[in-house]
Amino acid sequence: MGLKASKSHRWVNCPGSYTLEQKYPSMPMTEDALRGLEEHKTAARILIGDNPTDGTEVSNAVRTYVDEIQNVASGNLINVEHRLPLTRDGITLNNIIDCHTYKAAENRFYVWDYKSGYYPVSAVGNWQLLTYAMAILDTCPNLEMTASFELTIIQPRISSTPDRWVIPAINLRSYRNQLFGAAAEALGDNPRTCSGNHCHRCSALAHCHSADEAGRVAVHYQGYTLDHTRTPDQLGVDLSVLKEAQTHIGRLTMALEQQLTGELKSGRQVIGWELGTGRGSQSWSQPHNAVTAMAKMYGVTVDKEALITPKQAITAGIPEAMVAAYSKVEPGALILKPSSDEELIRKFKEGL
Ligand code: SF4
Repeated sequence: MGLKASKSHRWVNCPGSYTLEQKYPSMPMTEDALRGLEEHKTAARILIGDNPTDGTEVSNAVRTYVDEIQNVASGNLINVEHRLPLTRDGITLNNIIDCHTYKAAENRFYVWDYKSGYYPVSAVGNWQLLTYAMAILDTCPNLEMTASFELTIIQPRISSTPDRWVIPAINLRSYRNQLFGAAAEALGDNPRTCSGNHCHRCSALAHCHSADEAGRVAVHYQGYTLDHTRTPDQLGVDLSVLKEAQTHIGRLTMALEQQLTGELKSGRQVIGWELGTGRGSQSWSQPHNAVTAMAKMYGVTVDKEALITPKQAITAGIPEAMVAAYSKVEPGALILKPSSDEELIRKFKEGL
């Protein structure tokens, strides 16, 4: 398995994660990840003009993504799910770019990445998009001095507005050096591990000393007490330290949650914890024209421009029962929660 752009945010910041993630691979794909995979496939089919006619459901999120690309590309040739490796000094990074185009009139490349989940991702400084941009630029290096890139993350379940970052092509040079420096370290003999926000969803999180130590150091601040003898400067330093501790505790919590979730999924009982089902999302289950006709009866417009969700339809005045008849609630993902089995907890405490 080679280095992937889709994980570059992690191995650029923590080169050791590449080896560790291979040693502790991910657990089976979550329902959210499977949904993302299917949505990518559906969106790609629509974008290349192969509109699904086999009953494949097209979510509002996918429609938002497709609409954005079609509006911006406005007839220019688009490349969809494009495999475009990036190579330097014998190191190859494997990329599959969701979608990109070049508008000659603007001398600008547009690169889109679709995120189907709820964990917010920004376009600014995004290593995955930067890697894609470098691979695209390598196909026409003569444009390096003049062209620019608009890098966009479309994450409709978090925001209806895409997150964009415009960067001159020439600025990719310094990022390229940093990227391949980290890649060489990741593939080398003794790469460093370094904890941070990139630990989120690292498959090695539950086995990683760096993340573990950062969390444990933070936990020791639980003994911190407030007094009134500190100078304002001391208070400032203390607050900075505590804020950092908060971050580390968050990471340790994530690691424990991930490990416990795996234990519960494999059928083990864990005192005080169980898996529950998260809040599902509601989407239209009836064809678009049927929803439009129903909404019209209540004086609500549901056209393509102002596509509204079932929840928004209720706010707009359509009776809840009517919206329920035209929509469905998809089951939410499995989430870890404190156990409601008081009997089991009592027995455990008695046995202590
Ligand atoms: S958990 Fe964090 S520090 Fe550890 S390998 Fe993964 S990304 Fe690196």
